[in-house]
Amino acid sequence: MTPLDNQQLFLDSAREWLKTSVPERWRQERGALSEDEIVEIRHEWDRQLFAGGYSGLAIPTMYGGQGMGLREEVLFHEAAAQAHAPEGIGRIGKILTVPTLVAHGSEEQRAKYIPGIMAGTEVWCQAFSEPGAGSDLANVAAFARKTEGGYLVTGQKIWTSFAQYAERAILLARTSHTDPRYRNLSFFLLDMKQPGITLRTIRQISDTSHFSEVFMDSAFVADSDRVGEEGEGWNIAMTTLTSERGGVEAITRYVEVRGDLDTLMRCCATSSDIDTEVKQLDTRLELVRWQVMKALDYVEEDLEFFRRTCMLKIMWSELWQEVTQLAVSLNCRAHQEHWRNQYLETRAVSIYSGSNEIQRNIIGDRVLGLPR
Ligand SMILES: Cc1cc2nc3c(=O)[nH]c(=O)nc-3n(C[C@H](O)[C@H](O)[C@H](O)COP(=O)(O)OP(=O)(O)OC[C@H]3O[C@@H](n4cnc5c(N)ncnc54)[C@H](O)[C@@H]3O)c2cc1C
Repeated sequence: MTPLDNQQLFLDSAREWLKTSVPERWRQERGALSEDEIVEIRHEWDRQLFAGGYSGLAIPTMYGGQGMGLREEVLFHEAAAQAHAPEGIGRIGKILTVPTLVAHGSEEQRAKYIPGIMAGTEVWCQAFSEPGAGSDLANVAAFARKTEGGYLVTGQKIWTSFAQYAERAILLARTSHTDPRYRNLSFFLLDMKQPGITLRTIRQISDTSHFSEVFMDSAFVADSDRVGEEGEGWNIAMTTLTSERGGVEAITRYVEVRGDLDTLMRCCATSSDIDTEVKQLDTRLELVRWQVMKALDYVEEDLEFFRRTCMLKIMWSELWQEVTQLAVSLNCRAHQEHWRNQYLETRAVSIYSGSNEIQRNIIGDRVLGLPR
C-alpha cells in the first residue's frame, strides 16, 4: 500500500466515525443552544475524540497521541469541520500547550500534563495578552517573584479565551526588572483553580462571553512548572504562537468560510451584478486550501514550512470578513440572523492569534527580509 492509499483509508474510516459520532443536537439545534450547553457539548466532544482514537493525531504515542503526521491531523480537521463537528474546548491545550511542551518541556511536565489534555479531562487557556502587551507582547508586565520552591505571580491578563473553564494556563510573565527585553520573560504552567486567581468575564459584541480578564495576586507556580530556563520565555512563546497560526487552524476556518460562501452563493447572491465578486471570493478561498496542502509537503523543513503557512491567517480571516460583509450588504432575508452573528463574530478574526498587521510585519521581516 502506498502512503496515499493509507491516507485514504484513514480518511474513509474517520468520515464513517464522524457520521455516527457528531452529536445530533449539535447538528440540528446549534443555533438554539445556550452558551453552557455549547460548552458541555464541546467538553464531551474532546472525550469522544479521545475514545475514538482521534485526539492528538500528530502527537507522538509516547505522550498519549496517535503518532501520525500533521497531514492526517489537517485532513481529520477538514473532515470534522465538513461533518459539522463541534470544536473541542480543549483546543488551546492541544494546539498550543502540547507542541510547546514537546519542544521545550521537561519529561516530567510532558508526562504530567499531556495525557489529561489528550483525554479531554483538562482544559487549558493562554494567558499571554495584557492591557499593555498585545501586539507588543514582549512588554508583558505580570511579574513572577522568586519564592521558596517556586514563584508568586502578580498582574493582569486580558482576552484569555476559555479562562472560566480552564484548569491550567500557559503563562508568560516577567522574571527580571533588569535583564534586557526578550530575555526578561519566563514561561510557566499555571494552576487556574487556586485562590490567587480572580476572573472577570468579558462580553463580546456578538453577545457571547468566551473570554475573561485574569487577575493574579501572588498566585503560586512551582519551579517544576517553569518551562525552560528563567529568561527563555520569549523564545518558548514563539513556538506557541507559530503553532497557533499554522495549518490545522487554517483548514478548519477554510471549511467554515466555505460553508458561509456556499450559503451566500446558493441563497443570497441572486444578482448577476455581484457574480464576479462572488467568483473571486470562491477562487481565493480555494487558494487557502491549496496553500495548506502544499505547505504539508514541507513539514520536515521548519523554515520553508513557516514561510508557506505564515500568510494563511491573513488569507482566511480577510476573506471571511469580506464574505460576511457582502452577505450583510445584500440583506438576505432568509439568513438575516445568521449573517448578523457571523458579521459580528468575524470582526475578531483579524485580531486574535496576533493581529493581521503584526502578521504582515512578521512576513516582511522574517520571510521577505525587508528593511525596517
Ligand atoms: C476573540 C479573541 C480571543 C483572544 N484570545 C486570547 C487568548 O486566549 N489569550 C491571549 O493571551 N490573548 C488573546 N487574545 C488577544 C489577542 O492576541 C490581542 O488582541 C492581539 O494580539 C492584539 O493586541 P491588542 O488587542 O492589545 O491590540 P494592540 O496591540 O493595542 O493593537 C491595536 C491596533 O494597532 C495595530 N498595531 C499595533 N502595533 C503595530 C505595529 N507595530 N505595526 C502595525 N500595526 C500595529 C494592531 O494591529 C491593532 O490593529 C484574543 C483576542 C481576541 C479578539
